[in-house]
Amino acid sequence: MKTNWAGNVTFSAAQAVTPTTADDLRAILRGSPAVHVVGSGHSFSPIADTTGTLLSLAQMPEVFEVDGRTVRVGAGMTLAALAPLLHDAGLALHTLPSLPHITIAGAIATATHGSGARSLAGAVRSVEVMRGDGSVVELTSAGAAVSMGALGVVTSVTLDVVPSFDVAQTVYEDVAWTTLLVQLEQIFEGAYSVSAFVDWQGGATLWVKHRLGDEPFAFPGRAADGPRHPVTGQPPSRCTEQGGVPGPWHERLPHFKAEFTPSVGQELQTEYFVPRTRAVTALRALAEMSTVISPLVQACEIRTISAEPQWLSPAVDRDSLAIHFTWVPNTPAVLALLPRLEEAIAPRPHWGKLFTVPPTLLAARYPQWDAFRALANEHDPKGVFRNDFLTRYIGPAATT
Ligand SMILES: Cc1cc2nc3c(=O)[nH]c(=O)nc-3n(C[C@H](O)[C@H](O)[C@H](O)COP(=O)(O)OP(=O)(O)OC[C@H]3O[C@@H](n4cnc5c(N)ncnc54)[C@H](O)[C@@H]3O)c2cc1C
Repeated sequence: MKTNWAGNVTFSAAQAVTPTTADDLRAILRGSPAVHVVGSGHSFSPIADTTGTLLSLAQMPEVFEVDGRTVRVGAGMTLAALAPLLHDAGLALHTLPSLPHITIAGAIATATHGSGARSLAGAVRSVEVMRGDGSVVELTSAGAAVSMGALGVVTSVTLDVVPSFDVAQTVYEDVAWTTLLVQLEQIFEGAYSVSAFVDWQGGATLWVKHRLGDEPFAFPGRAADGPRHPVTGQPPSRCTEQGGVPGPWHERLPHFKAEFTPSVGQELQTEYFVPRTRAVTALRALAEMSTVISPLVQACEIRTISAEPQWLSPAVDRDSLAIHFTWVPNTPAVLALLPRLEEAIAPRPHWGKLFTVPPTLLAARYPQWDAFRALANEHDPKGVFRNDFLTRYIGPAATT
């Protein structure tokens, strides 16, 4: 893998390797002063980069072990591969992001989320990590899931799962911006998972994923008369089935079907988390900047994430509203705009997307920031996994 999915990050790794066994992996780690794992490369920030050895776990043996309401899975497995296995076992993940193409470890390392529930990191019981010296530890600390690869190579993850469930997806169009703001809480509490796509100029479209058996809510707007894509002009055939047709959780919770390349590809992304208590204020502040946002934005999606204990989750300790931007692929223009948005709403940004919040400000927004740094130093004292991104945000390793 030479670049990330969007092509805005060119990996600076001296070599890329794909171990096939734990012994291979251990030998690679023992011989490499600098390593980082890349999942499916869907992050927009340089979070997976390294100047040393870039590792992919895509060829490691499959792990899928169900034990009651938990499952242990191999870190390099994609959500698209995991979901049908769980469904066949009568089980489900409690949430899924908009696309299933990403790896389990990559998703939890950045607190990847859908809407209406905790992030995927919120389901983590424990992570098995191989450290730079080849030793293996099972970590249950609340700091271990959202690690951005700073602790070592996550080789498997044990997740809480729920009984499988069916979902019907309906798109509601022509929701007035003022209605969205006035009814924000009712709308986002009105179904199992709700996303609002907004154009900042007066309108919103709701993507409602209703769990069968739940009480229906009368959403504003009108049901779309055919399938839709979140980005105007893109083919709806890439999107999961809409129109209220029930189907299994993993074929409705993601916006995009597993068998298609998600989204347009020609894009950048940013996502900002604010507390639910500040949701309307933040949305109003951004709407006031619509004239500078609109020329660069392809789509904007609002979701909710429940408070969770994972230290570096942007939803740590507080119910959050996440405001997502899919930008046109103009990196200089996007990076020039972001500080204005960040100043206006003081967010915790998504680790896998673009942001410019300075490290000191970010540290002050996470109560367990220093605890995470200590955890990273404990498990990676030589800084084998400390790439430029991590060094910038959490500092150099203890002994470098
Ligand atoms: C089209 C598109 C749609 C998206 N939709 C959503 C969405 O709905 N919700 C959301 O929250 N995000 C979304 N994202 C962002 C995406 O979910 C995150 O960037 C996620 O981290 C990508 O997973 P990955 O497997 O590609 O990981 P990568 O981007 O490859 O890596 C992410 C991080 O995980 C670490 N990592 C990966 N594997 C391991 C391992 N085995 N051990 C240790 N560290 C590891 C990497 O080192 C890196 O720090 C979207 C991205 C795209 C491109």
